[in-house]
Amino acid sequence: MLLQSRAVFALGLRMCSSHVIKGPLMDTARPSSDMSEFRKTFSKAKHIVIITGAGVSAESGVPTFRGENEKWRKWQSQDLATPEAFSRTPSRVWEFYHYRRELLLNKKPSAAHLAIAECEARLKKQGRSVVIITQCTDDLHRQAGSKHILRIHGSLMETRCVSCGHVTVNKRSPICAALKGKGAPGPDVADAQIPVDKLPRCDESDCHGLLRPNVVFFGETLDSHILTKVEKEMEICDLCLVVGASSIVYPAAMFGPRVASRGVPVAEFNTTATPKTEYFTKSKPGGREVTAHRVSP
Ligand SMILES: [Zn+2]
Repeated sequence: MLLQSRAVFALGLRMCSSHVIKGPLMDTARPSSDMSEFRKTFSKAKHIVIITGAGVSAESGVPTFRGENEKWRKWQSQDLATPEAFSRTPSRVWEFYHYRRELLLNKKPSAAHLAIAECEARLKKQGRSVVIITQCTDDLHRQAGSKHILRIHGSLMETRCVSCGHVTVNKRSPICAALKGKGAPGPDVADAQIPVDKLPRCDESDCHGLLRPNVVFFGETLDSHILTKVEKEMEICDLCLVVGASSIVYPAAMFGPRVASRGVPVAEFNTTATPKTEYFTKSKPGGREVTAHRVSP
């Protein structure tokens, strides 16, 4: 059964949104919402993996650009966050990411970010570990104080050179002079059509290549170095929490079910049931109060 889940996992290494999983990977126990049982499980766990998604950052006011109502101009992120769109219209894609970077400047960690960071710090003193595997590309987990973070979709505050591949933290605002005041999201705003040589460029000597956001575009392969670390954490964890993750973006959507297939408890904390809820032994749909506090017993 583990081999089956591995196969599904291996097939899911490209980032995409879909509901392709058919049939259970395991003989699941029914989901339970018994919090006293969860607290007992939590108190015994020594190595906890917390998978987080856009839900925790939405609480901080960070838009996801996934729903019909969350468009930037006429587009959703699936239309702009692709290698093809960046190659065809780098100015438009950079305007979109510039807007998203600027939005993050005044965002603060949500109660969920803070509770997770507090959990990591408290358990560390007890010789227990917490690892965050996040789909979020913002910096809010780190700002909240979390130390052990694996960002599987990259970071909005990093750039990568398309010529030399150099990756660096870049928090400049604006990221380049030509993008100053650009990126307004209204549906009638025209593209700035910035010449490609005025877009963010590489600072490495003699390179001057075009920079791109160091995030995983739709259809791209996830960083194998990060995935190797994720694999290890999922193999050794004895409790997994899924917090604010819709469980529809692959491969992250398979992480929880994969841990559950080892017989390890997986607790889901979301505002609604997700396509994967049936795989988990513990599930707690609810509002922001749930997301914020249930990680502490
Ligand atoms: Zn370069």
